[in-house]
Amino acid sequence: MSYVDEVIERVVRENPNEPEFHQAVKEVLESLRVVVDANEEKFRKDALLERLVNPERQFKFRVPWVDDKGQVQVNTGYRVQFNSAIGPYKGGLRLHPSVNLGIIKFLGFEQIFKNSLTGLPIGGGKGGSDFDPKGKSDREVMAFCQSFMTELCKYIGADTDVPAGDIGTGAREIGYMFGQYKRIRGVFEGVLTGKGLTYGGSLARTEATGYGLLYITQEMLKSKGMSLEGKTVVVSGAGNVATYAIQKAQQLGAKVVTCSDSTGWVYDPDGIDVAALKEIKEVKRARLTEYKNYRPNSEYHEGKGVWTVKADIALPCATQNELGIEDAKTLVANGVIAVAEGANMPTTMEATEYLQSNGVFFLPGKAANAGGVATSALEMSQNSERLSWTFEEVDSKLQGIMVNIFHNLDDAAKKYGFEGNYVVGANIAGFEKVVDAMNAQGIV
Ligand code: NDP
Repeated sequence: MSYVDEVIERVVRENPNEPEFHQAVKEVLESLRVVVDANEEKFRKDALLERLVNPERQFKFRVPWVDDKGQVQVNTGYRVQFNSAIGPYKGGLRLHPSVNLGIIKFLGFEQIFKNSLTGLPIGGGKGGSDFDPKGKSDREVMAFCQSFMTELCKYIGADTDVPAGDIGTGAREIGYMFGQYKRIRGVFEGVLTGKGLTYGGSLARTEATGYGLLYITQEMLKSKGMSLEGKTVVVSGAGNVATYAIQKAQQLGAKVVTCSDSTGWVYDPDGIDVAALKEIKEVKRARLTEYKNYRPNSEYHEGKGVWTVKADIALPCATQNELGIEDAKTLVANGVIAVAEGANMPTTMEATEYLQSNGVFFLPGKAANAGGVATSALEMSQNSERLSWTFEEVDSKLQGIMVNIFHNLDDAAKKYGFEGNYVVGANIAGFEKVVDAMNAQGIV
């Protein structure tokens, strides 16, 4: 049995009931086969892959808090510190009822390669809780965040592990967590990113993941002699990534006709109104059913459906495994040119293979959504030098990073004979740097 197959089998055996983690490991290791096979003897002797798929450490802890009725609630908190070969652990905190250890491990594993691809000195980690901020009062969210940080603060620090936002963790949650960290540890340091602008946050961090997604998509289209100008785009999600992806796509001349949340989706033939979307989601924290009040020409549908709308480009920006094989078939039948992942692992492996084998340009999340973590690293730099850069400075660095990422993965794919396969390119380009750093640091 090949070394790759052995390690995949062992991961499945030793991490039962963690299908998302198995999926992420399989996706990465399958595409690294060409590199691993060429170095099999050395990698096997060094147990390189076993070290790569085992987190350096992981924490699971109790998070008790009191709700508005005086009832004590108990959630579970997680932080997985996956790999620090190239820098302090970096990765977001997800607050969603679906969170479990396997989901945090899949996200932390992906984060290693994503962070490496940015070219910045950040290792891979991820955390979160099964707490659901939806429908909670501000006081309840604060009570949860303070309790969560009371435990988490033992394991993180500006030079060791720097968490950020993710699903369910926005500016409000980061603020409450930062306040509690400062109170307990007694230091004002850049321990979290995604902070508010008045206390160490970076301009353009809010926009970074969505904007970065469009910068890399634009660069990929440019390499094929195309552009976003005049293209029709379908987007899923209505959160941070989706909102700013829609905004940048429209600034670059495309028309975005859909968005969605966990209960339904919107079709707006005139192009999504970003100001209305922000008002509904960021200010009112309401459902997308409200969108029709702002745009009477639009349609609201319950359930899933954005991938049924005919478009040139599809940008999944909600959550994992939201684009399956049937969706991929519909997109191809409707003539889609490119799919770029704003979310983490939104496309199933089967759907990815179908899209690629039907000539669709496919940019995986670990490259396409790396603008968020890259800008988080820029926030860390600004905190270290105690300066704030302008929006334009940060945005232009972000553009440079996304353009570089595209060429790194494009080159890696070509070098190994997989031209145009950006999944293979991203995994190899991310992997090579991490392996080099791991080898240099000995068996640790
Ligand atoms: P938000 O919480 O801001 O938005 C998430 C959106 O996806 C919401 O519209 C939400 O709907 C929808 N959604 C969440 N879970 C589900 C589900 N199980 N089924 C259907 N819809 C769902 O999160 P972000 O925009 O920050 O994150 C979106 C994705 O992008 C995630 O995969 C995240 O890991 C990834 N990502 C985020 C980065 C960032 O900087 N924020 C950086 C890199 C990746 P509803 O409003 O109903 O909850």
